[in-house]
Amino acid sequence: MSKVIHVGSVVIGGGNPIAIQSMTTTKTSDVARTVSQIQQLQGAGCEIVRVAVPDMESARAISSIKKEIKIPLVADIHFDHNLAVESIKNGADKVRINPGNLSSEWKVVEVVRAAAERGVPIRVGANIGSVPDELFSRYSRPVALAEAGLKQVRLLEKHGFGEIVVSVKSSDVLETIEATKYIARMTDYPVHIGVTEAGLYEDAIIRSSVALGYLLLQGIGDTIRISVAGDPILEVIAAKKLLISLKMRKGFNLIACPTCARAEIDVAQLSLEVQREMSDMNDMNITVAVMGCVVNGIGEGKHADIGIAGTKSGAVIFKNGRIIKTVERSAILEELRKQIQLLVR
Ligand code: SF4
Repeated sequence: MSKVIHVGSVVIGGGNPIAIQSMTTTKTSDVARTVSQIQQLQGAGCEIVRVAVPDMESARAISSIKKEIKIPLVADIHFDHNLAVESIKNGADKVRINPGNLSSEWKVVEVVRAAAERGVPIRVGANIGSVPDELFSRYSRPVALAEAGLKQVRLLEKHGFGEIVVSVKSSDVLETIEATKYIARMTDYPVHIGVTEAGLYEDAIIRSSVALGYLLLQGIGDTIRISVAGDPILEVIAAKKLLISLKMRKGFNLIACPTCARAEIDVAQLSLEVQREMSDMNDMNITVAVMGCVVNGIGEGKHADIGIAGTKSGAVIFKNGRIIKTVERSAILEELRKQIQLLVR
């Protein structure tokens, strides 16, 4: 089991719940827009948020941002140790930086000292694009990636720092899996898992679900990010759905039939309406089925807690394979909500 690490108010590792991460796309120095995006992310279920810190203005903005948000903030820094120190001073709850990218050892010491003084963990690791050629010449690609990450870990350990989170990422699913398995075997620090540069929505969801799903089922992964080229809210929704699918988290689970010639309702449209209408029920541990017809729908959906099956004039609502109500099209959502509330009570 991995070591327990505190990232602000969120405890990761050691069998604690897997935390969902995302990253802002706004300029961090633009406090108003960054706060607004983080608030939307936290509303969607993001539990740890990362912001890029490319300059001093961004590092200093962290203290103002932190006052307006509820979830821990991770400062993402490349190369400049001063930005890491300043971010920590301004209240960052975790720093992502690779000490091997700092040009001198004394700079690593300064970052470690600042982090240790304030109990701030450091995430280190490697992306496939940053692995030195020397490692590729000695190892297979996944092992080279993991070894590059381990090198960063050892640098921090050399300076007596142990509040570490590790992560190794590739845009290749199999490389990500192999490298992450390797590094998880070689250290007991919490592991952040994700596929980097996973692509546009469909590609990102498929690649990330395969890699993260496999790793999580192997017991590897303490925080996750599904990186999507686009709106980060999508990352959070997808990560939540992944954890719910793996039964690693409770939540609202919507299943829907693919429809066929027997369908009496527009299942896709009604599913969207159900999802939207029940969005305030996201934390309820309930599975709702939307099925196109009563012929097969009730039987096929009976494992759900509650379901709707289409009829010529509307739908029936069923529970445990039994019809409990018949409703007109216009009343489906209202009645479903009522029945869910009764069920939860
Ligand atoms: S539930 Fe009915 S409409 Fe949906 S796929 Fe099955 S048979 Fe077709």
